[in-house]
Amino acid sequence: MANYSPKHGSRLGSPDYGSRTDVGRVRDHNEDSLVAQDPLYAVFDGMGGHEAGEVASSIASQVVAAQAPDELDVEALGAVVEAANLEIMRAARDGRGKKGMGTTCTAAMLRGEHLIIAQVGDSRCYLLHEGKLQQLTRDHSYVADLVEQGAITKDYARIHPDRSKITRALGTDPNMVADLYEINVSSGDRILLCSDGLYSMVIDDDIEHILARERDPQKAADKLVKEANGWGGHDNVTVVVVDVAGFSEVKKKRFARKTKLTVAFILLALVAIIAGAFYGFNTYVNNSAYLGIENGYVVIYRGVPGFGDASDATTTSVKAQNLPESVVSRIQNGEVKYSNYDDALNLIDSYIKDYSDKDGSNEQ
Ligand code: MN
Repeated sequence: MANYSPKHGSRLGSPDYGSRTDVGRVRDHNEDSLVAQDPLYAVFDGMGGHEAGEVASSIASQVVAAQAPDELDVEALGAVVEAANLEIMRAARDGRGKKGMGTTCTAAMLRGEHLIIAQVGDSRCYLLHEGKLQQLTRDHSYVADLVEQGAITKDYARIHPDRSKITRALGTDPNMVADLYEINVSSGDRILLCSDGLYSMVIDDDIEHILARERDPQKAADKLVKEANGWGGHDNVTVVVVDVAGFSEVKKKRFARKTKLTVAFILLALVAIIAGAFYGFNTYVNNSAYLGIENGYVVIYRGVPGFGDASDATTTSVKAQNLPESVVSRIQNGEVKYSNYDDALNLIDSYIKDYSDKDGSNEQ
């Protein structure tokens, strides 16, 4: 089992998607693989038993993940699937895995509302459009042929004893070609890729119901797997759920994020400005000083008139009665103030020099 889904969810400008692969409740190992890395989504259902099926599906997933075209070119995607076919055959010859191992491949690429698919085998791609589920791909299987011929019903195909007999797979025929699909989907549509472990256990109506009801694609993927296991989990089950975000929606998302960032930045800047102003003001108040008169002596208060702790007063030896009246009234009015405490001390020094008692004493 290989799982190329390093992350799920919404990278900027990419669709939301979720994926899950599970061994089921009967098998003892998982031969399925998946790729979920925007814009490429794929499921692979390996066959050939232990140390073969999972090797084939894993090789296919690696080749497809590594070589998928940059542009949505369906011919190129088909060529990559065909390259994966040859790589599996080479691996079997080299002793990696086992002869006769093979895998299905349902590989899709989605960009905006443009979907391309390369299809081999009986894994499927479905589309949920306006709440209705439709199968986009045609199975390469014995029972699918019977259904098309009108020999059996679709419902019977699900329980037909040869239901898992597939008529085309990667790993056996060097001339194998993939079926190619190119489809315009719509914003709000949902795409489901799955192995037969899902649709052989869960009827389409129930798949539709889960996809239509569960908004989160990862939770939808989880619920689909749970449902398959709930109905018996006879096979490995792998699902990839991708939400189609149209180009306009992608643009909106980008814009929303930009707006969010701008708002966050403005808030941050405001907080910084307020904090800075507060800090600056505090520092200013703590460094400032102003003079007052208490009990006939000049005192130095820390702070500015109206701010700061008036009890933090230092009484000086300068007697108010020795100062000119104009100075005393300015002091009393709180007009003698400095932004630097040392300046206030210097002023007191000059008062002591200039306005001492006649006997030269200013001491208390
Ligand atoms: Mn299967």
